[in-house]
Amino acid sequence: MEIIYAPWRMDYLVKDKSKDECVFCADNKCYEDKYVLFKGLYSYVKLNTFPYNCGHLLVIPFVHTKELNGLSFEAGAEIMKLLSLSCDILKKVYRCDAINVGLNIGKAAGAGIERHLHFHIIPRWEGDVSFYTVCSELRVVSEILDDTYNKLIGDFKSLKL
Ligand SMILES: [Zn+2]
Repeated sequence: MEIIYAPWRMDYLVKDKSKDECVFCADNKCYEDKYVLFKGLYSYVKLNTFPYNCGHLLVIPFVHTKELNGLSFEAGAEIMKLLSLSCDILKKVYRCDAINVGLNIGKAAGAGIERHLHFHIIPRWEGDVSFYTVCSELRVVSEILDDTYNKLIGDFKSLKL
């Protein structure tokens, strides 16, 4: 029997999600989060604390909005550039075969944090959809977040918009 060990998922599963604070807003000091990789003028890039695959990143606008039309033109342009540059870094560092870039607007679309827009960037490799993913909600991430951060931070520190 194969044993799966993914303890970081447990924090998310048992977390009280009814609290009022927005985990992506400045009031909550999210920009000082140790997994923030880059801060722009309108948005920032961080590791997803509860990743679906190694190298799962989030690009998050500073403005608190749940709709695309809540973004200024400048914020939208910066986010698009950060999505593009983040993909370049993931391809270089992780040598992934493909990448999912996505946005879930609203709970029915799969948004875990519905109130604050955030873009997902998920590296993919051929055959990475395992039996567990197909048959359950469980996914296996084979890297701890500190290692992911250490692999990526060098490239993000030298990033120029
Ligand atoms: Zn917010």
